[in-house]
Amino acid sequence: TFKAVLLEQADGRTTARLADLPVENLPPGDVLVDVAFSTLNYKDALAITGAGKIVRQFPFVPGIDFAGTVSRSEHPRFEPGDEVILTGWGVGERHWGGLARKARVKADWLLPRPEGLSLEQAMAIGTAGFTAMLCVMALEEQGVTPEQGEIVVTGAAGGVGSVAIPLLAKRGFEVVASTGRAALADYLKRLGAAAVVDRRQFAEGSKAPLDSARWAGAIDTVGGDTLVNLLKGMQYRGVVAACGLAGGANFNGTVFPFILRGVRLIGVDSVYYPAERRGAVWTRLASDLDPDLLAGMVTRIGLADVPRVAPDFLKGAVRGRIVVDTRA
Ligand code: NAP
Repeated sequence: TFKAVLLEQADGRTTARLADLPVENLPPGDVLVDVAFSTLNYKDALAITGAGKIVRQFPFVPGIDFAGTVSRSEHPRFEPGDEVILTGWGVGERHWGGLARKARVKADWLLPRPEGLSLEQAMAIGTAGFTAMLCVMALEEQGVTPEQGEIVVTGAAGGVGSVAIPLLAKRGFEVVASTGRAALADYLKRLGAAAVVDRRQFAEGSKAPLDSARWAGAIDTVGGDTLVNLLKGMQYRGVVAACGLAGGANFNGTVFPFILRGVRLIGVDSVYYPAERRGAVWTRLASDLDPDLLAGMVTRIGLADVPRVAPDFLKGAVRGRIVVDTRA
């Protein structure tokens, strides 16, 4: 047997507990992994609490990312002892996930542990940090440069935001962190934010169709009215990389930012991001992210703590990244 966080459903309510499961119960796959670390992301919190319709089959093992060591492989690319990581591909949503000591998955979903990162560091980054890098790369691919002006990051003290800030600062961007938690201003400045602003300015916004043109770029993890108001304050041809919905999924805006200012809205998805491009993203994470800053954004918990900690995400109360040590 192996230890896992198990989700069950009764009367439409999802419950989570630590369970011992037989290895035979794992879903099919060509590689069996001894999971060392998993993490908690916003989506895991939606799955574990049942607040979002992420999981549709029960009983279920959640966890959208993990890192560990191959213990058995029927695929030529991997052999026992190989260190591997996984993010996305519907693992922890449709296929049993990483909040467990073992996982069985498709070889195509696995990457070798990125050079320059330990398994634990790779999960300190995890899905949230991988997505932050995708957002930074999206801005760069659209031609945004530090000379153009400030980049605003919303949901700044969360997982995606906390990783995005030092990645941007490292490349010379002036980063403005938008947060609902003024008490975390020092934390955000240590990560590389030049300034910290109150998120209400984006959540509430103005009545005008456009605001004064301030931001050269934006990374938005909040969505909803925040995204609408961000768009109104972009510079001419400014770029928004949108990846999240922590503040809402609706989009009640006008087309004026697009048609009068040429603002570009780029969607970012990490789950089905092409396998052949992922290595380069991790290589950049390994080179650009200061290990001390990364360590400073992590809270480490054990599998048994997961049911208690997951609801904190939905209260916007998690700072940085939560790493789950499956052996703790
Ligand atoms: P997280 O750690 O909970 O960060 C979200 C942050 O958003 C919070 O820390 C909080 O920051 C802010 N926030 C929370 N509730 C809010 C509200 N009601 N209004 C305004 N701001 C609010 O979550 P995460 O793991 O970083 O993920 C962030 C978002 O990105 C989630 O929506 C997640 O689903 C999404 N995401 C998408 C992808 C993808 O592939 N597209 C991948 C990863 C994550 P402050 O306290 O600093 O304001």
